[in-house]
Order: sequence, then C-alpha cells, then structure tokens
Amino acid sequence: MQTSERIRKVEAVIITHKDFGEADRLIRLFSLEHGKLSAIAKGARKIRSRKAAHIEPFTYTSLVLAKGQSFWIITQADTKAGYPNIREDLRKTAKAAYILELADHLTGDEQPEPAIFHLITETLQRIDSVQDPFNAILNFEFRLLDFTGFRPDLFHCVGCHKEIQPQDQFFSVQQGGVLCPECAKLGGSLIPVSQNTLKYLRHFQRSAYSRLDEIKVDENTGREIDRVLGTYISSITERKLNSPEFLNQINHLGKNSV
Ligand SMILES: [Zn+2]
Repeated sequence: MQTSERIRKVEAVIITHKDFGEADRLIRLFSLEHGKLSAIAKGARKIRSRKAAHIEPFTYTSLVLAKGQSFWIITQADTKAGYPNIREDLRKTAKAAYILELADHLTGDEQPEPAIFHLITETLQRIDSVQDPFNAILNFEFRLLDFTGFRPDLFHCVGCHKEIQPQDQFFSVQQGGVLCPECAKLGGSLIPVSQNTLKYLRHFQRSAYSRLDEIKVDENTGREIDRVLGTYISSITERKLNSPEFLNQINHLGKNSV
C-alpha cells in the first residue's frame, strides 16, 4: 500500500468476500475513487455484526476505510443499492458474479476506472430489474472490452484489412476480430460466425444500452454470440491471469498480513 492517506471514503461494489482469521472477512471491492482494493471487515462473521449485510457480494455500498498495516480496514458501511432480485434468482446471481469477475480480471489494483465502475453499477441495476439480462450482459462485455483496449474489429478483416462483406465469416481469437473467408483459408484457430450473428454483434458493439430495448436475440444466435465473444474474452482473461504483472500481485498478496 503506497499512500500517505489514513482514511478513505469510497463508493464501492463488493466483488467477493472470504473468511479471514477468527471472525473477520477479507473483502475485494471495486471503488469509484481508487479502483480495486482489498479491505478487512473486522468481526463481520459475528452474528450481531451490523456491517455484514452492507458488505455482501454485489452490494453497492458507501464505505469509510482506515489504513491498516497491509490492508484497509472497513470502519463504516452503508448500502446504496442491494439488488434484491440478484440475490433471489440464482440465474441472476451467476450473471452478476460473472460481470464482477470479468471486471476483476481485466483491471489492476488501485487504478481508478470510473467509467468501469459506473458500467458495473448500471449493469447490476439492469440485471436486477429486467426479466432476461442477455442484452445487459452483452452490452457490459462490449463496453468493458472498449474500456480495457480489447475492442474486437467487426468491420474490417483483421488479416487483409478489407471491409467485411455481407456473407458468413470467421472470428480469429488471436487477432481479435473478424477474418474474411479468403484469409480464413490460411488456417489458425477460427470460429465460424454467420452473417446474421455478425449483424447482432456489430449492433451491440455500436449501440448505447438505451437503443437495445427492442432487440430480442433468438436462442441460436444467442448461442453463437456467446461462443464467439465467450471464447474471445476467455482468451484475454487467460493471457491476463498468466501475465507477469498479475502473478506479481498474487505473490505480493500472499506475503502480506493485516
Ligand atoms: Zn481478409
């Protein structure tokens, strides 16, 4: 922890918590002001803990943090949004966990990312309030890829840079975009992407969430979108998780105590 501050007031979304010591919890949070942080909630596992409900995963909370030796200590916590439907519906719980995990993997510790913070709170609100969060998740994925520098090219072939024509194409995970049928003949690890699926992918990439209200993606197209984008995103997070910077962070965390 390289800071001379003693106290921080932050707005944060709780990513995960895990047991720490006898009665405490170690919280991973994504804050508006400082990006990702780890903090200790002392006594949070005691039955009478007043803090416990405010630091459950997915909660959007106002926190006061005091500087400890290696971690911040949570001294006050007040829920701003609890997203009750996310907690009650397992399918929504899984979606909320997915977007937080993705944001966690693609951002560094203590690096303020206000645009990503707002994207997280908006997306949690959408997952909580709509019946089918498919569009909300896809919107989240595209915006997060934009903000982290991994925007896939869906308009020009990533091999020959020619404009993509209206026909079935391929997606290259390694090159991060669409490959025209000519370039695809050269081989590599490619996912077929139909003209129809590409149309939806482009629309989601280019449009604000407010313009997606009317869009209803059929099941087959949804599966194809998931296959293309899911494989691309997994390859990015794998690269990130194996990066020297990330491995250093893990080693560093392992050596610390409160
Ligand atoms: Zn090409």
